[in-house]
Amino acid sequence: MTDTPTIHRFPTEHETAFVNAFLVETREGVVAVDGLLTVSDSRAMRAGLEALGKPLLAVLLTHSHPDHYGGLTELVADDSVPIVAPQGVIDTIVRDDPVKEQILRPMFGDEWTTQRTFPNTPVRDGERLTFGDATFTVVDLGPSESPHDSPWILGDEERIVFLGDQIYDRKHCYLADGFHEKWLANIAALEERFPDDVVLHTGHGGPVGRDAFASQRRYIETFLAAVEGADWAADPQQAHTAVVARMKALLPTDELLFLMELSIEPVAAQLGLTSPTAA
Ligand SMILES: [Zn+2]
Repeated sequence: MTDTPTIHRFPTEHETAFVNAFLVETREGVVAVDGLLTVSDSRAMRAGLEALGKPLLAVLLTHSHPDHYGGLTELVADDSVPIVAPQGVIDTIVRDDPVKEQILRPMFGDEWTTQRTFPNTPVRDGERLTFGDATFTVVDLGPSESPHDSPWILGDEERIVFLGDQIYDRKHCYLADGFHEKWLANIAALEERFPDDVVLHTGHGGPVGRDAFASQRRYIETFLAAVEGADWAADPQQAHTAVVARMKALLPTDELLFLMELSIEPVAAQLGLTSPTAA
């Protein structure tokens, strides 16, 4: 690659952003990575795209969670472009969207669009896609942080990566989908794969460096130990409180704390500590 593409992060107010998406500006056009969640944020991202004065060439999705695809309708608008993800990501989004509607409508109201746009172009693991002078390679991880995850690598040197939610940057994490063992294995493989000076663009916070893989591993392992160590038989509410206290001792912030709290009872059930119906 001769010119390094410019990476624009949205929302532009980084500190208060709930979730990130990116516009990768090349000489000829723009490639979006993910599409945010809300109508207003994704509309602002569309305005940011139009301000660049270059055509949207494609949208790449990093995983199947709705905070990364909910805004696609506003972002893509009337453009007819490929929205690219592995088939497993596409299938997961189509399968889970009605459930996400039930969860997100009460939380976000009209900010969760009624007209969702789904990815339309499947890609195979390791496939390289070139748009203008930028080449992206997909890593089809399968289940990881979400039921199906697909980070994208920009350039052949593998020094710029759109990692999706494989790492959360100093924020609490969502573990309710229950693939933490695969997530830990993927973290080890990705950590091994990328060079020391890699820049990892993440879905929540960031960008981060390669050392953030270790922090993410510690977070997941601490969470699992906290859930396992809590006394579920005596008092489930107290067990929940104990897990929250342990995780806030590890990461003293309330950012995305609700996502971790939503994960406690499902993971306790997955680990056989409670019956699933009691969760
Ligand atoms: Zn996310």
